[in-house]
Amino acid sequence: MLPENPSLQLTTSSDRFDGSEKTGMALVGVGLVGLLAALFGAGSNAPAVALVISMGGLTLGSGLLFRAYLKRPAGVDNNGVWFSAATARGMAGWILGIVFTGFYIVLYWAPSNLEHLIRMTDPLSSALRGQAADRWFLYGFFYTVAVLIMGARMIVKYRDNRYQILRTISVMFFQLGFAFLLPGLLLMLNEPEYYFSYFWPLKYDYLWPGSISFFSSASSLGVFMVFWGAVMFFLATPVLTYFFGKRWYCSWVCGCGGLAETAGDPFRHLSDKSLTSWKIERWMVHSVLVFIVVTTGLLWGNSATAGAWLGGMSGAFSRTYGFFIGLVFAGVVGVGFYPIMGTRVWCRFGCPMAAVLGLLQKYFSRFRITTNGGQCISCGNCSTYCEMGIDVRWYAQRGQNIVRSSCVGCGVCATVCPRGVLKLENGPMQGRYNGPILIHHDAVSVQLDDAWIRSRPLLPSTQEDLPVLTDADFDTLR
Ligand code: SF4
Ligand code: SF4
Repeated sequence: MLPENPSLQLTTSSDRFDGSEKTGMALVGVGLVGLLAALFGAGSNAPAVALVISMGGLTLGSGLLFRAYLKRPAGVDNNGVWFSAATARGMAGWILGIVFTGFYIVLYWAPSNLEHLIRMTDPLSSALRGQAADRWFLYGFFYTVAVLIMGARMIVKYRDNRYQILRTISVMFFQLGFAFLLPGLLLMLNEPEYYFSYFWPLKYDYLWPGSISFFSSASSLGVFMVFWGAVMFFLATPVLTYFFGKRWYCSWVCGCGGLAETAGDPFRHLSDKSLTSWKIERWMVHSVLVFIVVTTGLLWGNSATAGAWLGGMSGAFSRTYGFFIGLVFAGVVGVGFYPIMGTRVWCRFGCPMAAVLGLLQKYFSRFRITTNGGQCISCGNCSTYCEMGIDVRWYAQRGQNIVRSSCVGCGVCATVCPRGVLKLENGPMQGRYNGPILIHHDAVSVQLDDAWIRSRPLLPSTQEDLPVLTDADFDTLR
């Protein structure tokens, strides 16, 4: 018997969108048109109107569109993510990538083209900072709006998962409060603009001698800023990473991670999982760390020797780092390439803070992802959706803990696993590294490190004493 609505069409019917979703799409369209109008003049002529129409359209339209997630099961449901041109490096994905990258290029090197758009944010900037907007205010505003709108999407999408909801609220809070409102308020109070949620080496100049003398001579609050930056890097970073792994920062606080986790979520599966990219990643991220450590050391040496080390070169050193790493890598490539290389390109290949946190996580932390390999059905969801390119399934199949310096503890691998195999845990450092549980065609062997064995007195005391079950053993059991 034929189904009620027999159809051989290969495309999806337009009926899949209900009325509110169609209204949402129309409103997003109105918002985009408003942005274009602002770019070409309306931003200067009627800034408040352009701001309300563009942001109102985008916010309300997105809200209506995200309601569609309520009709689907919560979490990742693999609904065509590899078949959509926007999320599978199709034409729409490339167009998005070019638009993002182009925005960064114009923002950094030809900001006069954004003049009308900048003027659109004047009313907001005046209210928040007591002064006219500039390109960095525009950028911070767009960045924050993206985190908030797409953060709302994350919350609706992963609505059955407390971990995802809490950490999404956390990154939204830190972006809005610490990276947008507070720096603006400081300017309004004639204090130095400071980002309390960014620390050296990510905010690379915060420990440079020039910045330290600038902040400490500005006001008593400036002295506190220097103190805050030093305490957060030298004390809070190792302590918090010891207890929670790098996730406390990368997935809960950092604005770069916040954008990747919210605006970048539709592209998280595009990260390269190959061994080659893992090798490139390790070289690159640690090279950037060495670069910033050497630059900082040289600048301090230069300052201590009254300019004898570098002379007039010191400015060139800091500008080189700021240009190549701070602008080109973190912005143009790091965000512009989301639709092509996946999210977290910057976090994975370039962020010196991630390198520091990663080293701490690998050698001095209680964090690990435990795996219950017996339950794994090798579906590969975990590897697919790991934004850091970790082949999570490889570990799961072997029953091996995942202790990787690059893991940002986003928890999405555990969220998307249909079998509950993976669990993010903080436990004793002892025994974090366990070997694989190998199932051969004729035997099962368990390799455990000695520390893990010693922490479990009921187990044999050394690796050699562990049983290896052979076919003969199974025969006697049958
Ligand atoms: S291994 Fe899991 S928790 Fe770690 S980065 Fe990948 S998806 Fe996130
Ligand atoms: S750990 Fe879970 S998500 Fe990963 S392959 Fe196994 S069953 Fe699939």
